[in-house]
Amino acid sequence: MCVGMLGFILVASWKEPVMATLRTRQEARERVEEVFSAALDRVIPAEESKPLKGGTFLEFEDQIEELVRAVVPTLLEERAALDPNAKVEAPGRCPHCGGRRVYLRREVTQPEVLSPHGKAVVRKQHARCRACGKSFSPSGS
Ligand SMILES: [Zn+2]
Repeated sequence: MCVGMLGFILVASWKEPVMATLRTRQEARERVEEVFSAALDRVIPAEESKPLKGGTFLEFEDQIEELVRAVVPTLLEERAALDPNAKVEAPGRCPHCGGRRVYLRREVTQPEVLSPHGKAVVRKQHARCRACGKSFSPSGS
C-alpha cells in the first residue's frame, strides 16, 4: 500500500503537526465487520446445515467470550487508526524542551496494548529532538 492510500492528510495550522489517519472509515468498518462476521459464524453459523456448538449456558458464555476477544481488539485497533494523531507527517514541537529542531525517525513500532479483552496492536511513530537529545512519540502515545 502506498503512502497516499493510507489516509487523508489534514491541513493544519502552521504551528500544529500535519496529521493523517491511517485508514478510511470504510476500511476500518469493513475490517471490523469481517472479523465480527467470522466470529459470529462460529457461534451461530449462517448455514442451517452446520450444527450449533455447546449445550450448556456456560459453554454459550465461553463462545461469546471468544467472540468478544476476536472482535474488541480489532475494533480498538481500527478506532486508534482513525485518530488524526495516528500518523503525523511532522513531529511538531519537542514535549521536553519546546524546541522545534525535531525530526521523525524512520522506525515505526507496533507495540501491543493489552486491553481488557485481549491484545491490540497500535502503530507508534518516534521523533527525536536535536536540541535536548530526547526522544518522544509525536502522536502522544
Ligand atoms: Zn527537546
